[in-house]
Amino acid sequence: MGPRRSTYGIIGSVRPPRPADQLAAELGPQGVLLAERDDTSGYATPARGVPGRPVDVVRPASTEEVRTVVRWATQHGIRLLPQGANSGLVGASTPPPDAEGVVVLTTERLREGVRIDPADRTAVVPAGLRLSELNELAATHGLWFPIDLGADPSVGGMVATNTGGARMLRHGDVRRRTLGVEAVLADEGVSVLDTLRTYRKDNRGVDLTDMIVGSSGALGIVTRAALDLAVLPAETACAWIPLRDPADAVTLLVDLEARLDPLLAAFEVVSATALAAAGAVGHPLDLGDAPWSVLVEVAGPTGCGDRLVDTALSSPVDTSGAVVLPQDRAWAPRHAITSGLARSGTVVGHDVAVPRAALPALVTEVADTVRDTWPEATFADFGHWGDGGVHLNVVFPPGRTVDDAVVDEVHDAVFSIAVDRHGGTFSAEHGIGPANRSWWLRCTPAVDVALRTALRDACDPLRILGHPGLP
Ligand SMILES: Cc1cc2nc3c(=O)[nH]c(=O)nc-3n(C[C@H](O)[C@H](O)[C@H](O)COP(=O)(O)OP(=O)(O)OC[C@H]3O[C@@H](n4cnc5c(N)ncnc54)[C@H](O)[C@@H]3O)c2cc1C
Repeated sequence: MGPRRSTYGIIGSVRPPRPADQLAAELGPQGVLLAERDDTSGYATPARGVPGRPVDVVRPASTEEVRTVVRWATQHGIRLLPQGANSGLVGASTPPPDAEGVVVLTTERLREGVRIDPADRTAVVPAGLRLSELNELAATHGLWFPIDLGADPSVGGMVATNTGGARMLRHGDVRRRTLGVEAVLADEGVSVLDTLRTYRKDNRGVDLTDMIVGSSGALGIVTRAALDLAVLPAETACAWIPLRDPADAVTLLVDLEARLDPLLAAFEVVSATALAAAGAVGHPLDLGDAPWSVLVEVAGPTGCGDRLVDTALSSPVDTSGAVVLPQDRAWAPRHAITSGLARSGTVVGHDVAVPRAALPALVTEVADTVRDTWPEATFADFGHWGDGGVHLNVVFPPGRTVDDAVVDEVHDAVFSIAVDRHGGTFSAEHGIGPANRSWWLRCTPAVDVALRTALRDACDPLRILGHPGLP
């Protein structure tokens, strides 16, 4: 019997064929891992969430081997879930516990053939390379890929999720810095979409690179990407500035942008609750009793640190409590917030963005709603205010049952304030997956859904690519 449809789309034949026999011969012994034979738990365990059951894994080592796997999957109706570093936060990187016949296609062996062109300030990079590895190579040319976050994702995963990160204010997101891609489609011919060019200007009509960026593995498997690198700054300087009122953060941001452009590299606003969580896991920062604080970073030519201090001290808001710190010490508390919160209870998180002027009202209204509706919970917000982004975390105390119904209620309350009241987005930078699927369905206009369906019909007519719970 051939492939069949289910609520998750095509999920394989009645007894889906296993990858072992056919694929092991073509990919070699390292190319296939079997659930019952090998330890595949790492491929089934999301960055956050409960471990899934063991899973079959295919590990192609070249674009041609990816095609071999996709051809096999289309022939047998097997769903292929691309996986990079498995650091995604919306549940789209690991198979759902209840889906049969899903095989993980890891890109971890797609590592050969990095090309950095210092004259062009670009790189062509295989999908399996990690961000840290790319940056190590780029640094030898005085360059870097300026996406900065608390995880170490793969290049393919960053393209598939359009990663943002803390320097987006200055350098943009992955979409802005991706010049081209190579991706294997699951169409009839198992075509390779190749837009791998490294020039920055290309005005030949619709941009198919952009179609793949942010597509979460549902339109093609990214095998290589052409990336726009940035020059490593000669100097970086950071300051933490305590504030009494979140509205002051927006005033400060606008003022620093006006007077420091283009040196401002990051502008992160952190509530006292979030900062305390970082302190509880070994990264304390004493900013008195300020309810809010801002981490500001400037990067550029030598001397830019002095400009930060001069500018911040003559700001229209009270910045007298500012503390200047070396970059690593300044960022350590910021990066420790998430693990600190996770230690303190069950976190129901949200990654939203709104117009920047709406951020103070957003965090105040969500804090009020949480206090009124779930008085036992704490609310901790922090994030990339420079981009209008903020992570809104509702933390329930240990021992409190937080089942799916509670999570849905919290999501509905928070997302309605961000999306319905303030015209924002329910996914600022983490992309889409089962964790926010219902809000994607709710917020996405019918014409967008129809166009996405048409794209999937063209690139993956059998619906074998990506997480089965993707919209
Ligand atoms: C501590 C922490 C901090 C984070 N901070 C940020 C942040 O500041 N900003 C931000 O944007 N994100 C952040 N993230 C989220 C995460 O790191 C990004 O989504 C990341 O870019 C995903 O890359 P990955 O290689 O881990 O992909 P995975 O998690 O393996 O996969 C993510 C999605 O991409 C698909 N995919 C992966 N590789 C490919 C490929 N080659 N071709 C097609 N599809 C593919 C998967 O199927 C899945 O849908 C953070 C995560 C953690 C754990």
